[in-house]
Parts: sequence; C-alpha cells; structure tokens
Amino acid sequence: MIIKEGLAKIEIPDYNNISKEMPVFYNPLSSIGRDIAVEVASKLGIKNVLDPMSASGIRGIRYYLESNIREVHFNDINPIAIEYIKKNLELNNIKEGKIIISNLDARAIEQKYEYIDIDPFGSATPYLYLINNTSKYLAITYTDTAVWTGEKHRKAYIRYNFNVIKTPIKHEIGVRGLVAHLINKGAEIERALIPIYAHSAYHYYRVYMLKRKGSNRIEKLKSQIGYLYYCPKCYYISESESVCPYCKRKMFRIGPLYLGKLWAIKLDKRDYFNKQSNKIIERINEESEIDKPYYYELPSIAKALKTNIPPMDKIMEKLKELGYKVERTHFSENGIRTNAPYYIIKTIFSS
Ligand code: SAM
Repeated sequence: MIIKEGLAKIEIPDYNNISKEMPVFYNPLSSIGRDIAVEVASKLGIKNVLDPMSASGIRGIRYYLESNIREVHFNDINPIAIEYIKKNLELNNIKEGKIIISNLDARAIEQKYEYIDIDPFGSATPYLYLINNTSKYLAITYTDTAVWTGEKHRKAYIRYNFNVIKTPIKHEIGVRGLVAHLINKGAEIERALIPIYAHSAYHYYRVYMLKRKGSNRIEKLKSQIGYLYYCPKCYYISESESVCPYCKRKMFRIGPLYLGKLWAIKLDKRDYFNKQSNKIIERINEESEIDKPYYYELPSIAKALKTNIPPMDKIMEKLKELGYKVERTHFSENGIRTNAPYYIIKTIFSS
C-alpha cells in the first residue's frame, strides 16, 4: 500500500495492526514526530543524517525532501525494510546527493554524521552507544512513556533509577526525567548533551540535543538536574519544600529531573504538516517563554479545592491582569504554564 506523509510517498507491505510484528514498521501517529523533526533539522541547518533504524525509510526520505539534508545513511536490521527503503527512494525520485543503505545492527555502524535520529521500539537506552556516531546533534525517541510518567513506577526505578509516581503533570515529569537521564549518559562519556527541543505526542517522547565537549558545560547541565516535590493530596508542586505547606504532609520527591530550559529554538508551522504538529509547535513557541519547570493541571486543582473548573480563558486573563505570565502547554489540553505561585491560582479558583 502507498501512504502519503509530508512531501513523501511511501510504499509499505499491507498490515492489519500497528505492531513490532509488521513486516516493515510504519506508524501514522509518528508523523507528528517526523513533521517536527524535519522542521528542527531545517532550523539547525543540518546537511547530513544517520537514520539507523529506518524501517520504510520515511524519516530519512522526509529529511531529504523537506530540509537541507542531502546526505542520508539509511539502516535497518530487517532485510525486508532494506528492500522497501530502495523502492521508496525510487518512488520519491531521490537520485542526487549521497545516499548510503546498510543492513546492520545499528550499533555496528562506524560512520559519523552531523546528526543522528535514533528511533527504536521502546527505550532507546540500549542504543545510546550511537551518541558516538554524531559529531553535533542527536534526536531520540522513547516510547516507554508509561515508565517515565510513573504509571509503571517500579520499572522507572529499575530501568532508569528514576523515582516517580503518577502526577497530574505526568508527561512533563516524564520528559524532564528522560532529559536528566540522557544528560547523565552523555556525562559518562564526557560529553555535554544540551537540550534544544523536546515534546511529547501520543505514545512517545522526542528529545533533541546538541553534543559538545567541555567539563564546564557538563557541570552546568548537571547543576540543572534536581527534584520536584509533589503532594499527592492537594497536588501542590514545589522545587524546594519537602513538606506541603497546605496539607502539612511529607511530599513525594520526584527525580532526578532536568529543571532547566527544554527549548532553545522556535519552530515554524508548515501548511502541509499534520494539524496536531502545528498545534504542538505553536504551544511550545508560547510556553517556552515562561521559565518554570512545571505547569498547573486545572482539573486536579479543582478536585483538590472541590470546586468547578473556571473557564481557562478567564483564569489566564486574570493572571495577566495581575501581572503574571501565562500560556497554555503542549503537554496537556487542561494545563497552563505560569510564573504565578500556587496560592494565586487557588485564589482565582475560589473567587
Ligand atoms: N524510524 C522509523 C520511522 O520513522 O518510521 C521507525 C523505526 S521502528 C520504531 C524501529 C526499527 O528499528 C524497525 O524497523 C526495526 O527493524 C529496527 N531495529 C530494531 N533493532 C535494531 C537494531 N539493533 N539495529 C538496527 N535496526 C533495528
């Protein structure tokens, strides 16, 4: 069957369910991650990429067609995927530039590129050796989001040494836990992995990082790794207090989390992108203006206060009137990111 995505056409074998068992993997929900990936690559002016887990080739082909990348190394361990990558390069009339195709375990690839996009099933941690294959930029997908959000908190501890429980702001917690993990993994090989962009979408997280050398850079990144304290009774979140000032009970310490800036670049929407991708781009452009490592999830505040949720527009208007910054967040339909303290939000709810 032929699928259209972005500016590409892709042939894949017929399938019934999206699963790892597909003869060649393709998930339409990942098109959001791929839209954003081509935009990040364009913004960073990247010229060559290693796509070590290519499946149908859709990702590398879209990089070629939609950014300035003219050199793509496609690889997949699955020999059927290799046949389809070749067919799809032809289908998209890709003849110029430098195209390499290999059928290896990704960890056996020796070449180094300016940019690598690691896109495995589940956790990418077993593939972090591939950080060595990039000279500058790294994009990475993790699909084990239930682990990072704390829904599978025992696995989070076992797999990542991450202490987490499910909170109303679970995806931001997940992404910040993942970024801290990646920074620490980079530090193990004495590299600074500096976050440039990150987002959550459906079943996956995507993180973009700049790889640099230098102890000062690594120390600076590590100094931005810390904890958030969370009250499971009233959902209060704090960067410093370990006892909830409202409930007087000990709060749960979540982390390690990266508490610094997640977004260093702003992206442009494209008219042919998925609507959902453009919405994420727009929301991140807005929320990145507010320097706060968590947001407020309005339904959980209403639940704690046993009140109804006031309209989001009204809350945002009121916060602006009071001189605070406030924006919506891409992490949740019901969340706001603001520099206002919790008691102000509570007052607005009560009034
Ligand atoms: N990047 C693709 C896309 O955007 O559609 C999807 C990649 S899919 C999630 C993961 C791919 O990794 C599968 O095609 C699988 O065959 C391949 N794979 C699994 N283990 C691998 C390994 N050790 N080395 C290289 N490829 C591997």
